[in-house]
Amino acid sequence: MTVRAVLLDLDDTLYDHAATSRRATAATLATEPALVAAGLDAVQAENVRQLEELHHAVATGHGWVDDARIERWRRILVRFGGPPERATELAMVYRANYHRNESAVDGAVELVHALHARRVPLAIVSNNARDEQVGKLERLGLSACFAALVVSADHGIAKPDPRLFEVALREVGVAAAEAVHLGDAWENDVGGARAAGVRAVWFDRTGAPREVPPDVAVIRSLRPTGAVVRVLLDG
Ligand SMILES: [Mg+2]
Repeated sequence: MTVRAVLLDLDDTLYDHAATSRRATAATLATEPALVAAGLDAVQAENVRQLEELHHAVATGHGWVDDARIERWRRILVRFGGPPERATELAMVYRANYHRNESAVDGAVELVHALHARRVPLAIVSNNARDEQVGKLERLGLSACFAALVVSADHGIAKPDPRLFEVALREVGVAAAEAVHLGDAWENDVGGARAAGVRAVWFDRTGAPREVPPDVAVIRSLRPTGAVVRVLLDG
């Protein structure tokens, strides 16, 4: 079957949220002695844990990303014995440093340009708020390459719900069997795509051992670009 559209996750598939977030946490932590004492590994682990807990409301359109960020830093401060009244200030420091330190996943920009050059319609399928994701694509210089940007908060449903993939398929005008989805999250990306009838390619960034069904291709890097393009377009 000829692939007529490529769906892509954004965070930690194209946009390196994990590295960007760790660098932003390091800069934020440096402003608060209680967090310096706790150390970067512990503070970042708590940041990731709280983000996972608070993100679903944002991703399904039931919360504001700025409020969630302040609440996250309030909880981090409480956890490590810092002053919770600094939460708003630290959230702003984190936000500024997140933008300042952001980066694409290695090979992501080249991959998107290579797919775009093949004239295959591309769609982002992402669990997040629109403004957040529009900004990331613009700052990475990739906005013009995408035919559709499907974000969960616009629809009140989040991956792995297959209906979010179905929105993307409608927007690019192809059937599920004619599309492929690339993403790093096993349940959200691989599980969600397969539930929608879309072939999944799993971007395994951490090398976690896992039983992978034969219909799921696995890549561990977005390089070399040509090899990843072949996995996506030629199955
Ligand atoms: Mg992801």
